[in-house]
Amino acid sequence: MATVNPATGETVKTFAPFSAEEVAERLSAAVDAYHEHRTTSFTHRKKLLLTAARLLEEEQEDVARTITLEMGKTLAASRAETAKCVKAMRWYAEHAEGLLADEHPAEADVADSGAVSVLVRYRPLGPVLAVMPWNFPLWQVVRFAAPALMAGNVGLLKHASNVPQTALYIEELFRRAGFPEGCFQTLLIGSSEVDAVLRDERIAAATLTGSEPAGRAVASTAGDTVKKTVLELGGSDPYLVLPSADLERAARVGVTARVQSNGQSCIAAKRFIVHAEVYEPFVRDFVARMSALTVGDPTDEGTDVGPLSSEQGRRSLEELVDDARAHGAAVLCGGGRPRGLTDGWYYEPTVLAGVTPDMRIHHEEAFGPVATLYPVADLDEAIRTANDTPFGLSSNVWTEDAEERRRCVRDLEAGGVYFNGMTASHPGFPFGGVKRSGYGRELAGHGIREFCNATTVWQG
Ligand code: NAP
Repeated sequence: MATVNPATGETVKTFAPFSAEEVAERLSAAVDAYHEHRTTSFTHRKKLLLTAARLLEEEQEDVARTITLEMGKTLAASRAETAKCVKAMRWYAEHAEGLLADEHPAEADVADSGAVSVLVRYRPLGPVLAVMPWNFPLWQVVRFAAPALMAGNVGLLKHASNVPQTALYIEELFRRAGFPEGCFQTLLIGSSEVDAVLRDERIAAATLTGSEPAGRAVASTAGDTVKKTVLELGGSDPYLVLPSADLERAARVGVTARVQSNGQSCIAAKRFIVHAEVYEPFVRDFVARMSALTVGDPTDEGTDVGPLSSEQGRRSLEELVDDARAHGAAVLCGGGRPRGLTDGWYYEPTVLAGVTPDMRIHHEEAFGPVATLYPVADLDEAIRTANDTPFGLSSNVWTEDAEERRRCVRDLEAGGVYFNGMTASHPGFPFGGVKRSGYGRELAGHGIREFCNATTVWQG
């Protein structure tokens, strides 16, 4: 468990993992806190969460610097991530009570059941284990924690091993905001310890954001112990550009959509599927914009793309690009390590054309600033190509045509369809995937209800 600066490769600080006794103490503290927290009012929880939001807002600059130090995204991106967390905390503080209000079934069904009255009440589940990744190290945690705490659950965070300072900060933040000891705790443990924690009967449920192998491991333990899970896994989102698109905006937004978080975002646009009629002008502009990006020190305000988060992450990306090249893909820009940046784990913004199904990158997630291009003859081929992936997180479509939009909403296999813009989560809309991008939803009412017990209260 260590903070290793991706911009230099230097190990900044190491942390000893918790012993089995420390983990057990925290599990007990979580249960104790839950018994108290579940009985508190929405008004009380709202006050605490708003305090956390205020503290985070005040500390934004320091928090952003920690995020950038630990995982390498630009300072501007880290500041934006922090601001987004503040917004989500305020959103759930404001809306949780309404989202979890009692539901009243149709009168005819109540009468048909022979009841005098029936209602559905959303009650919390208990301590929830959250296994989280480093790529949005604050946001991924907050989008779980804010609704969970508002619903009356308590949280235990197993964060990625390369963001321990961010993990410890979040625990502290909730404590300083007034949430009682045990309501939100960080477990400094490796991934091999997750199975035992999840099997512990004090844990009621789990959520995991991360790769498919990690999701599979957590889901199988949860299946074995019959515990609810939400999985937010990888993505290889399509970005369709159709003839009626505003090509200049599609190219400009496409670059941002691809290189956000230095290209390491689950909802980054990764596969650019472009109608033959506009392929040539779109590609010319898109490649020029990708080539013009400034790669460098993420703390430098002029940098567009910082380093990848780890040496292993860069190696995996290099292997995908090398495999595509070996199978005949054309490298239109980038394709290697930038000259002059020898210390950190940098990789050039890259565009690949001529990608075919025999290349690994056609089926696997490229977790770095690498875009693939697919020319298509018509909308049918665009949709077929978009769906030709194991993933189904989100999708982006550029078109002014209502019939094309109708077809895309009907046929794209994804948890989101974003027209004339890039996928970006918002606390008010559900977020999640289908196929091997996972299951369940975060954010909005859907997210807060995932870890609730929808209890039927029937009165005769
Ligand atoms: P990862 O290796 O799966 O790690 C994510 C978390 O899972 C870390 O805390 C990791 O702990 C833990 N973990 C790893 N293997 C595990 C196992 N066998 N059992 C239990 N826990 C395990 O993923 P990553 O490389 O850090 O993150 C990138 C992936 O996350 C990408 O595929 C990306 O698309 C996906 N992601 C998805 C979303 C979404 O909302 N759908 C959002 C962001 C990222 P250690 O660090 O200790 O190994």
